[in-house]
This record gives sequence, C-alpha cells and structure tokens, in this order.
Amino acid sequence: MKFGIDSGHNCPPDTGARGIRFEDNLTLDVGNRVISKLQALGHQVIVCRPDRASTVTESLAKRCDKANTAKVDVYVSIHFNSFNGQANGTEVFAGSETSTKIAKPVLDEIVKLGFFNRGVKSGSHLYVLRNTNMPAILVEGCFVDSQKDMNLYNPEAIANAIVKGLTGKLPTTPVNPVPDEEQNVDTTILRLQKTLNQLKITDKNGKPLVEDGLAGGATSSAVAKFQKIAGISETGTADKATWDAINLILAKRIIRPNHAGGPVIRYLQYRLGVEVDGVYGPQTEVTVKNFQKQNGLLADGIIGPASWQKLIA
Ligand SMILES: [Zn+2]
Repeated sequence: MKFGIDSGHNCPPDTGARGIRFEDNLTLDVGNRVISKLQALGHQVIVCRPDRASTVTESLAKRCDKANTAKVDVYVSIHFNSFNGQANGTEVFAGSETSTKIAKPVLDEIVKLGFFNRGVKSGSHLYVLRNTNMPAILVEGCFVDSQKDMNLYNPEAIANAIVKGLTGKLPTTPVNPVPDEEQNVDTTILRLQKTLNQLKITDKNGKPLVEDGLAGGATSSAVAKFQKIAGISETGTADKATWDAINLILAKRIIRPNHAGGPVIRYLQYRLGVEVDGVYGPQTEVTVKNFQKQNGLLADGIIGPASWQKLIA
C-alpha cells in the first residue's frame, strides 16, 4: 500500500497547539515513527509535510497536493488536540464512509493505551480531508494540555497503535527512528569519552578525548568543562546530574525560541557562541537563524532534526 503520512503543522506559520507540551513536537515524533514502521512493513510512504509555506492555507494545500500527486491509497494526518486542560482522549476524523472504516481500528488501537474514547467524527469541515482525493483520516492522538493524557503519552506506543490500526500488524523488530537517549543507562567511561567527543567537548588542552575507557585527567577535565557549560556543579566526575544533562542533549528534542531549557539551551549557546544563560531569548534566536542560514537550512529559529544533525552528528 501507498500511505501519505502528514505530520501536522511543523511548517511556520502553520504551527500547532501549545499546552503542557507542543503539538508540533508530538506530531513530528509520532509521524516519523509511523513512517519508519510502515516502511519496515514494506509499505510505500509519501511524506506530506511541506518544508515551507507562507500561509497556513498554503501549508495545508501542499500536504494535499503531495498526497494527490503521488496518488496515495490512504492519507493520514497526525495531530494532537488542545482545549481547556480538562478535555482528554482520542478522536479520529474521517471524511467519508470508506475513511470511517480506516479510522475505527486506528482509534481502537490508540484507546487501548488508556486514552478516553471520543469516537470517530465527521471531518467534512477539515481542509485536508476535503481536499484529498483518496480515503483520508485525521488522528487527534490526545490532548497536549491534559495532564492525564500527557502522563499516558508515549510516542512509540501511539505510533505502534496507528500502524497496527492501519495495517493490522506491526514490524517484527522494533523500529525506533529517534533512539531516545534520555533513557540510556550506559554510564561507562568509554561512553562518556565517546559522547563528549560527539558533543565536541575537548579536554583542558583543547584536544578530543582518547576513547580508551580509562578514567584520567584528560577525561575529567572535559567532564568539568561540560559541567560548567551545562550549569551543574564542576566536580570533574560524571555523576547522575552530568549523565542526565548529556542524555537530555543527545535526545535532540525540538527547541524553540522563548524556551527556558537549562542544560540543553546552555549547550546550544556554547556551541553557537552566544552568552550561556540557559534561556532561548532574542540574541540566541538571531544566532540560531544565522547558523541555519549558513548550513542551508530553513532559518526558522527552531532547532529540529536537521539543525541537530548539523550540531551533533
Ligand atoms: Zn493540529
């Protein structure tokens, strides 16, 4: 089958809801996982999210155009909801009777994760369902402003549910396009040396670390340098706070302007040569945009997968 997968928003000025978490981050994370999983099952996937658009309508039109041009069999738009902090649960919009038959199993699989079942709803008012030529659904995974939903939220589980709902099966080997380093429990000296090199944190002589797995003065001086950048106590020993900061940076979460983000923002500021204060303010934004321009990226000030790739290979 040929699927058109549309990770909602993520195309300024088309940006998603903001609640406890950002809709854009969730749709991209879940969408990327769905894409990989469908491909692993042997399906063809057309990525419908456009790189850029000057208006929200253009962003939506481009998504539909991609699906229509590629003549996908099924179009799936992935979104997350937001309302008043109390509303919660999952709903899937469908534009036709055929679409309803596709929407139902997707909804059922997501609801199995513990979300409230808000049902399959008519999506005849939704632009992307009205303007696509094939069966099309729009998934509202859960509510980004509901604490209940955000406690339940797990991108891997939701992606699995969507793929299972669409195809009736799951890849036999787990596919994780974005390995979640935040959960990495490896705290050996060897991984420490490798990750500090990856993060371009040098020793006291400005040299990369020798990856020999042996503790020593050079490694300890690089750890202290990292700790200073991350704003944690400079002990030169990789304690829990140090590993938490390292893993949080390696998780490459999407970073946006006005984000007060502690170690991750501090690290970005260090890499970009901005004053390290841990707050993504106007000066950081200008520098991020310049960095993106220099690297041939869309200068939107948002540190997403492409920008992270340029910073941490
Ligand atoms: Zn949305």
